[in-house]
Amino acid sequence: MSAFRAIRIDKDEAGYRAAYAELGEADLMEGDVDVAVTHSTINYKDGLAVTGKAPVVRRFPMIPGVDFAGRVTRSAHPDFRIGDTVIAGGCGLGEVHLGGLAERARVSGHWLVPLPEGLTAAQAMAIGSAGYTSMLCVLALERHGLEPAKGPVVVTGAAGGVGSVAVALLAGLGWHVVASTGRPEENAYLKSLGAAEIIDRAELSAPGKPLQKQQFAAGVDTVGSVTLANVLARTMWDGAVAACGNAQGMELPATVAPFILRGVSLIGVESVRPCIPLRRRAWERLARDLDKGTLAAMTETAPFDAALERARSIVSGKIRGRLVIEIG
Ligand code: NDP
Repeated sequence: MSAFRAIRIDKDEAGYRAAYAELGEADLMEGDVDVAVTHSTINYKDGLAVTGKAPVVRRFPMIPGVDFAGRVTRSAHPDFRIGDTVIAGGCGLGEVHLGGLAERARVSGHWLVPLPEGLTAAQAMAIGSAGYTSMLCVLALERHGLEPAKGPVVVTGAAGGVGSVAVALLAGLGWHVVASTGRPEENAYLKSLGAAEIIDRAELSAPGKPLQKQQFAAGVDTVGSVTLANVLARTMWDGAVAACGNAQGMELPATVAPFILRGVSLIGVESVRPCIPLRRRAWERLARDLDKGTLAAMTETAPFDAALERARSIVSGKIRGRLVIEIG
């Protein structure tokens, strides 16, 4: 394997820093499949890793990048052959195992999903872990028996990556989507994704009563903290909220009132652990249910050279929707 370019994060006496670097095969970690990465993306977690704002990285040096798509160049795994196009996401990539913001990756075949029919590698990265997490939220709400006829669904952090895909997916499935955003300049964008109503996130982000007027049958929350407490307080009898993020904060200053007086459920969603049957099902549903035109409308593409700067800006909430990084 020839030398390859990557973003490398180091932490030593000189401090915590991220920069482009040239690496070689000896730098790679263990794995039975090698991939020539063609596309990656920037998730919120990649921003935290690159800036060091949260202790996401647990091995140094590290290549950030929770997601990648590319072509298999070597495989000792029975499910994959040279030339296959594959997707990887979560599984500790960019945290404990070298991630996807590099021209090459070496990973366990257990972490890979074949690119589903109907998606290109670039579209898969436009979806990325953010979109995959949105799909896990949708599947969680469906498992709870919720459907559009039950009432509106609220999506918090709607203009972000997870939120944007959730809005598009839920609207495409026939839900009346209430999008909560702190960026009024994104209202037209959110309507174009299918949001039926938009509320200012300030309505949800300040402390409120334990039980409030029932407004939503379901929720997808990417924000946590007081916002999640208010969403729970406004959820209708037997409704459910899928919680996957903490953009406002880790804490949950809520009471048990919605649970014990309205039968509301809070469902945790995590996208990191490899559970291959669920991964394949979620990706197949994404390939089927997510409108490709809407996906294109929420996606920006940037060259590898811009990835580091973009990763830094996502933590200040400056990125709208999804970003694909073209690597090879
Ligand atoms: P983005 O930065 O793209 O989106 C986060 C959005 O949250 C922002 O766009 C903003 O939406 C809103 N927001 C930001 N700060 C605040 C605040 N202080 N108060 C209220 N709302 C705020 O990130 P992603 O969409 O990629 O990720 C969203 C969350 O989901 C993150 O916390 C991330 O860590 C988590 N996540 C979890 C996963 C899991 O496995 N559970 C997987 C992937 C992500 P707006 O501008 O519309 O108000």
